[in-house]
Amino acid sequence: MNPVVPVVVVHGGAGDVPLERRPAHVAGCRTAAAAGLEILVGGGSSLEACVRAVEIMEDDAQYNAGTGGSLTEMGTLELDAGVMDGATLAAGAVCALPAFENPIRIAHAVLIDGRHVLYAAEGAAAFAERAGFVRADPAEMITERARHQLDKRLAGRAGEGWAGGTVGAVACDERGHVAAATSTGGTVGKASGRVGDTPILGAGTYADDAAGACSATGIGETIMRACLAHTAVELCRALPAPEAAARAMEHFRRFDGRGGLIVVDRRGRVAHLFNTDTMSHAVARVGEPVTSGP
Ligand code: ASP
Repeated sequence: MNPVVPVVVVHGGAGDVPLERRPAHVAGCRTAAAAGLEILVGGGSSLEACVRAVEIMEDDAQYNAGTGGSLTEMGTLELDAGVMDGATLAAGAVCALPAFENPIRIAHAVLIDGRHVLYAAEGAAAFAERAGFVRADPAEMITERARHQLDKRLAGRAGEGWAGGTVGAVACDERGHVAAATSTGGTVGKASGRVGDTPILGAGTYADDAAGACSATGIGETIMRACLAHTAVELCRALPAPEAAARAMEHFRRFDGRGGLIVVDRRGRVAHLFNTDTMSHAVARVGEPVTSGP
């Protein structure tokens, strides 16, 4: 088989980013996709490329992940993140994690550690501390905007508890090895203990070298029931990424799903599809200018 032209795709969450914020939202995706591609070009794996791209977006307060993540109804951060390596089929995830700057790094550490796949809440925090991560001061990670969105939600002025702004990445290296990573603060004003699709393998995040990789975003309750990421990846066994993504979105409609996904197949073909107003995204491929959209 011919080598694949290495590629990284990122999304900045399905939702409805207001017009005036869209350029910055897209610019952040472009920066993250380019940084992920740099990892691939430097000989790093698809997994490392995805983790790096997502980490950059977690540090960017305009997205609903890491710093700037959405708040629970108690005004606290409970962060979800998951990664999967298509080459080894290894995965790692954390959910309802208290304030740590980069949940995706902790999910990656869970994958490397290999004992379990998913750690929750204080158990996830204890794992992170054992692995050398340091708890953050929540006040440093909670933004004005996140507080404002929660206030609106609690005052009943927001139609639904959905912030958008979740972040994710998929990548394919020149040997056709794929990976996926996703990170979120979840929905605005969620109940404490609520976990969305993001850290659930097969729902928000999935990768398999035999087919492709997918990171999903949207209302987690619908994505989980649709097993959206796994559905899209399985469809990549027989179909190129754009058709697989379209079929997966058709399947998602049966669940009244709102959201979107990014997909890469094992030949490096990519897709980004959504049924919301926006899902900022960027594609960085060796030898081509970065492409992007709101
Ligand atoms: N899927 C995320 C969740 O339900 C939210 C999002 O993608 O905007 O937690």
